[in-house]
Amino acid sequence: MNALTLVRHNAHRVDVDGHAMLMHVPTTSLFELDGVARDVFDLFQRRSAVDAEAMRAELGARHAPGTLSDCLQSFLSLDILRDAEAPEAPARITKVEEIPLSTIILNVNTGCNLSCTYCYKEDLTTPAKGRKMAFETARASFDLLLKQARGRDRVNVVFFGGEPLSNVELIREVVAYAEPVARAAGKTVDFSLTTNATLLTEELVDWFDQHRFALTVSMDGPKALHDVNRRTVGGKGTYDVVARNVTMLLARYKSRPVGARVTLTRGVADVMGIHRHLKNELGFAEVGFGPATSGPIAVFNLDAEALGQVFEDMKALGRLYVEAACRGENIGFSNMHQLLTDIAQGTKKAVPCGAGLGMLAVDGAGDLHLCHRFVGSNQPTYGNVESGIDVPKLAAFIEKAQDRSDYGCRTCRIRSICAGGCYHESYARQGDVFAPVYHYCDLMRDWVDFGIEAYVRIMRANPGFFRTQLEPRITRSGAAKEVLSA
Ligand code: SF4
Ligand code: SF4
Repeated sequence: MNALTLVRHNAHRVDVDGHAMLMHVPTTSLFELDGVARDVFDLFQRRSAVDAEAMRAELGARHAPGTLSDCLQSFLSLDILRDAEAPEAPARITKVEEIPLSTIILNVNTGCNLSCTYCYKEDLTTPAKGRKMAFETARASFDLLLKQARGRDRVNVVFFGGEPLSNVELIREVVAYAEPVARAAGKTVDFSLTTNATLLTEELVDWFDQHRFALTVSMDGPKALHDVNRRTVGGKGTYDVVARNVTMLLARYKSRPVGARVTLTRGVADVMGIHRHLKNELGFAEVGFGPATSGPIAVFNLDAEALGQVFEDMKALGRLYVEAACRGENIGFSNMHQLLTDIAQGTKKAVPCGAGLGMLAVDGAGDLHLCHRFVGSNQPTYGNVESGIDVPKLAAFIEKAQDRSDYGCRTCRIRSICAGGCYHESYARQGDVFAPVYHYCDLMRDWVDFGIEAYVRIMRANPGFFRTQLEPRITRSGAAKEVLSA
């Protein structure tokens, strides 16, 4: 055999409770290394290249030639081992010829009735100055979604703002239009929105329930934390009204679980306490955390030390999640749920998210943006709901997004999960939608290792958790023993 070499950026080993786990990076698949696979992998980690003679000399006394050969074949087929002389293949870019859509985000009003101190929206205005989307624009947006969703039986409409409920009249009109039109086209339409909850009424909640809206509430925890940033235009904390409306919402809402979305900022970063309050005391089904790191007002952004602490706290909450999952309970921690889903399903992303590919956001003028966060920014738009998507321009963007070789992503061990990170985060922080937010990268890699450990522990103690919660994908290979069967 020619000398072989380890393709280091395609294999990542994590040891969990004495089990040697190998993540196949291109597919985020997990294998448990058996005795021979572990020895072979260790040998290639120590040596830059190994030929047949070296293999025999090092491992010949411990493993039969056939076993070693099977193992090598498996590693070769996974591109974990490669001919030492083989040149690095160029980045694989999938050509984009059409833009299928599953989701349209309608920016129904630039106005918000609150004035949260950390809000990042570039086009945000007070209610009096809010620019509301006209129904004609919303209707054309939905028609575009249906046209671009050929072959799909479900489509999603997301209402975004400002505060979307500050233009609830439009939301009602869109639902009344979209449901029968989708039905006639043989599709189901799902609606979702994130709200600050201050404008919720019983009648509105019942109407949302009737139309099975996926609802998320922006809330930052108990009063002392929530009121730090989430205030009215006049500067008054909003906890009391939000908590009252959330209690009403959670008591009445039956069609779907309702989640909370927390923005962590300097001084508002008590992950455990916030989760306890929102999940156990108020009764949200799930709580998700988004650390503020790139907003325009630096004072709210978490610095490196605070961000590191947030990740430590997320891991502490993650350990509680694992303990509960082993007992068959789900404590409703969205970030952990997403991480385990990525690992269980073997995520294989070429781009970080659906922005521009499956999903577009529409502003009040009908112009198309990569996603809701870019509405109001100085970044390019990609067509209009009346004239259609500018396919060549958007295709060029998506093709460029697939190759982040210049930024180091190509050899990153979590590239199939991260794929370069949020375009908007990069744009806001670096001024370049493709430039990774590097201070985040190490933390994210560590977070994924934490997820691998969590996955292995839950799978060993209670595989049924994945069957009921995450629908795992089982990975098989002859090289290493099948991962952990579900
Ligand atoms: S952005 Fe950072 S963590 Fe993400 S793939 Fe690139 S290098 Fe890796
Ligand atoms: S670019 Fe960022 S904010 Fe926009 S959809 Fe993607 S991950 Fe979300």
